[in-house]
Amino acid sequence: MTIVRVALDVPLPRLFDYRCDEATAADVGRQVRVRLGARPMTGLVLEVTEHSELPAERIRAVDALLRELPPLPPQWLETVRFCSEYYQRPIGEVVFTALPPRLRRAPPAAPQRRILALTSTGLAALESISPRHKLRRGLLEALREHPRVQSEMTRMAAGARKILAAMIEAGWIEARAAPPPPAVAGPAPNEEQRTACEAVAAAHAVFQVFLLYGITGSGKTEVYLRLIDDALARGRQVLVLAPEIALTPALEAAFRARFPAARIAVLHSGVGGAERARGWAGAQAGQVDIVLGTRLAVFTPLPKLGLAVVDEEQDASFKQREGLRYSARDLAIFRARQAGVPALLVSATPSLESFHHALSGRYRLLRLSRRAHGQARLPSVHLVDTREHPARDGLSEPLARALALRLSRKEQSLVFLNRRGFAPVLACNYCGWVSGCPRCSVCLVVHQRSPGLRCHHCGHAEPVPRACPQCGNLDLVPLGRGTQRLEASLAERFPGARIVRIDSDSASRRVSHLIGQAAAGEADMLVGTQMLAKGHHLERVTLVGVVNADAGLFAADYRAPERLFAQLEQVAGRAGRADLPGEVLIQTRFPTHPLYRALAAHDFDGYARQLLAERRSAGFPPFVHEAALRAECTQLADALEFLRQAVALAPAPGEGLTVFEPAPATLTRLAGLERAQLLVQSHSRPVLQRFLRAWSATLYARRAGAVRWHFDVDPIEF
Ligand code: ADP
Ligand code: ZN
Ligand code: ZN
Repeated sequence: MTIVRVALDVPLPRLFDYRCDEATAADVGRQVRVRLGARPMTGLVLEVTEHSELPAERIRAVDALLRELPPLPPQWLETVRFCSEYYQRPIGEVVFTALPPRLRRAPPAAPQRRILALTSTGLAALESISPRHKLRRGLLEALREHPRVQSEMTRMAAGARKILAAMIEAGWIEARAAPPPPAVAGPAPNEEQRTACEAVAAAHAVFQVFLLYGITGSGKTEVYLRLIDDALARGRQVLVLAPEIALTPALEAAFRARFPAARIAVLHSGVGGAERARGWAGAQAGQVDIVLGTRLAVFTPLPKLGLAVVDEEQDASFKQREGLRYSARDLAIFRARQAGVPALLVSATPSLESFHHALSGRYRLLRLSRRAHGQARLPSVHLVDTREHPARDGLSEPLARALALRLSRKEQSLVFLNRRGFAPVLACNYCGWVSGCPRCSVCLVVHQRSPGLRCHHCGHAEPVPRACPQCGNLDLVPLGRGTQRLEASLAERFPGARIVRIDSDSASRRVSHLIGQAAAGEADMLVGTQMLAKGHHLERVTLVGVVNADAGLFAADYRAPERLFAQLEQVAGRAGRADLPGEVLIQTRFPTHPLYRALAAHDFDGYARQLLAERRSAGFPPFVHEAALRAECTQLADALEFLRQAVALAPAPGEGLTVFEPAPATLTRLAGLERAQLLVQSHSRPVLQRFLRAWSATLYARRAGAVRWHFDVDPIEF
């Protein structure tokens, strides 16, 4: 009896056995239709064997073995196995996170770009055609002028498609494949760009991680365009990951212009199921040359992978926040290693992890230190002290004046407000004291319930002080609130200005639309959150105003300053990208804070080294490895209790591993569920991994009741 061992999308860390007499070893990596209980499901065959631990009569037969698609290749299966083990997630869930939905049969081929031309038969027919056949005549007459692209013709009228097909059939019209448009040449690389390209190209056949660290506008994209060109010329496939859907259209356009003959698949959650399936299947068959996408694209099978690029590698959106909590950046590196080819991480403000690896020599550092385009310079950054220049509805006088100036010069301004992702931290308005954890270099977070202040990192808790412990001020307030009225106040202040607001991560289609409008000069001011900061090239922006970034200085999460710096440097980088000089105004109550000082000096290097030194002495990543165990329940007490019991069940931590106390999560209440977590740290990844594996086996074996739990390995938020 032949048994297939199948991964199913259920939260159980095991495979399921089914009978399938036609299966052979060549079916590993193929999908099957099976039933789990009464429920029909699609599964993926991971093993074909003659043995099962189940008694023969309890083994059900598969409903169908789907052989229309080629099996997923061994490297792909290796990747999902790695994910399952590393991220402590059942293999079935990993498989069905990685596979695009609706990939059950071979997707139909993409319509070809074809040119239609009139034949001599067609010309003769046109002479004699009855005037009653108006559409037919119209189409033939259009083609008599000159040959045209088929899609353009079918758009001419409803029903055109059918008539054209009939006329092609009759030999009146000839259809041939359209030649690709001519390639657009890129600018000649400068010295630094050339050095970077040569370093990566020289290593094209070995695994090596490169960190392309260059200031905003230094021509990093240009560097990887050249490297892609190089890989395509060697017949290899390239994977390019971008952090946001909204950034993919510009990249796709650049790829199409530079590599008109290349077959490009764009893969992200905004792409329709059929197209995604087609891109995936094309990539697996080696027919797609470039896969461009957001984090989920990292799972695309690429048998001829020659280069993996991760643009804005520091971006938190490469980390999936639910289900399989993978880091697409880390997996891109895994895939480059698997294929024995280079991985290129690209950033103006690298993550401290990557920067640390580059400084220690594990990654190779490639620097671009100047803006590439003509006379473009980095913008000048000024700090507006809001104790001196108080902000009304978010706007200080110096910023208002600067905005008015841009308006009068018909230049664009961008006003950035940072209000997402920060927990309320207690601060003294008078002396600048903030609530810090005595054990960790992070801030305590204000909670409604007693004891009030809690560390989300180590679990330390204390009551909310009645007065500032430093100066006695009674007016302690949570930082980082109250900018909702900014857009309204701008509109009120500048009644004639065309203001565009962009602030939702979800409406990415709309974001690219709005950005496109702004790029075309159809806006005077752009107002928004981090969506605005990312990668967009807006030549007429000369002023960037930052209105409330202070909350990110003092946060519950030790990564907050790193993130804030990256975000502000990135948003500052939107100013003065072309020939007009740029200026950045940052409103703050803490103008002497090292972060702002470094920002004003565009000194990521120095600041990153300082943060790394702090991380080293505090024992934070990248100097230790972390995992979080999280629990969610309607009652916080139950979630905390679950974690306490989990600790009691944990294997002995042993040497070099610390399990911290449970604490409420930053977003304690989310979608009606209370969330709590605890942190595990170790200096050794293998030690941490062994511990987690043993622990998760115990936890899976036990009933969690109403509590939902998961591990988050290499968590980036607390
Ligand atoms: P980054 O990705 O580092 O922010 P880009 O690659 O988008 O920078 O380049 C910024 C601008 O500079 C683009 O308009 C690009 O075409 C231009 N550019 C890049 N390299 C060069 C070069 N060597 N010479 C002239 N212009 C360049
Ligand atoms: Zn005080
Ligand atoms: Zn602490």
